[in-house]
Amino acid sequence: MHITSAFDGGNITLVNADSSPIELAIRQDNNSDFYQWFYFRLEGRVGDSYPLRFVNAGKAAYPAGWDNYRVCASYDRDHWFRLDAHYDGQCLDFTVDLEQPSVYLAYFAPYSWERHLNLLAWAQGHDQVQLETLGQTLDGRDMSLLTIGDAATAKHRVWMIARQHPGETMAEWFVEGFLESLLDPANPGARQLLADTVFYLVPNMNPDGSVRGHLRTNAVGANLNREWSNPTMERSPEVYLVRQRMLQVGGDIFLDIHGDEALPVNFVAACEGIPGYDARHAELEQRFKQAFVAVSPDFQTGRGYELDKPGEANMTVGTNWCGHQFRTLALTLEMPFKDNDELPDTGEGWSPDRCRQLAQDILFPIRETLAHMDSGRNPVDTPA
Ligand code: ZN
Repeated sequence: MHITSAFDGGNITLVNADSSPIELAIRQDNNSDFYQWFYFRLEGRVGDSYPLRFVNAGKAAYPAGWDNYRVCASYDRDHWFRLDAHYDGQCLDFTVDLEQPSVYLAYFAPYSWERHLNLLAWAQGHDQVQLETLGQTLDGRDMSLLTIGDAATAKHRVWMIARQHPGETMAEWFVEGFLESLLDPANPGARQLLADTVFYLVPNMNPDGSVRGHLRTNAVGANLNREWSNPTMERSPEVYLVRQRMLQVGGDIFLDIHGDEALPVNFVAACEGIPGYDARHAELEQRFKQAFVAVSPDFQTGRGYELDKPGEANMTVGTNWCGHQFRTLALTLEMPFKDNDELPDTGEGWSPDRCRQLAQDILFPIRETLAHMDSGRNPVDTPA
């Protein structure tokens, strides 16, 4: 039996190979207490069963994430299926029955750095796409921005950023699906949008954390989604560079794509706690959510985070900073690590394909919200 995580995004420590179950621990993000992302390869004898245990699961960033969680596994690194697991409040246990000599196991289907580079290379070949490097991360990787549409003539600007938390790989699967839909010449909604809207897309906000196999932070342990008030090139260049461009071009809608460890549904969190939250914010938020619910049974509004009280928003969070700075719609989209339990898939759980489909569907609420802005129907400015 051999276990390794010495590859892009890998994360595991072998604690005891001779015990049964085999004891493993998830590594902390560098210079940080966060951990929950794991990704490793197990090699063994076909036909044998390998019981595995994460001995430090109970002290992970979001222990509730292990309740009813099922491990992602793949033999071919393309198709990811789920394995049942058991969490006792301290350890996570699961068993691999090897059907082929080598299996990959991960918290969610990984989105590799190579795939990220392929996505950028593919996108730049389209007439309407501009690829730009905003600067470099602390490990020296490029911060890439894709601009889709005609910035000179566009009436609307929409921002989408993903993977501030690098272990939330579903966010980049989502961006991939979004780009495919937006650039599909047979998609009438995309064509209509691109007639008067320009999209600014950051497919990976945290390249270093992604490659290092982090859950939540960059190379020096900064949680990028708590850096938006005062980012610096020394600690959080990823946010600094993107925020600088946002301030230059502005925007009408800001979408920040994430994954949630605990909640088994798709939902959005808005910026209701910012100082300037007003009737327009509330109206746009409602329009967006109603349209999203109408188009996708995988999206819902019943479950989500507790609302911030008026004026009590954490302004270091990207969505709050954007909603306040640009006085417009800013949303964090959360997808599950587990599954949408209102529409479960017992084989794969929440999966890359479902991320892509949800991304295709989000074109409609974007279109509806921009159309509402165009209609000029400004709600009466009373407290929401
Ligand atoms: Zn997140």
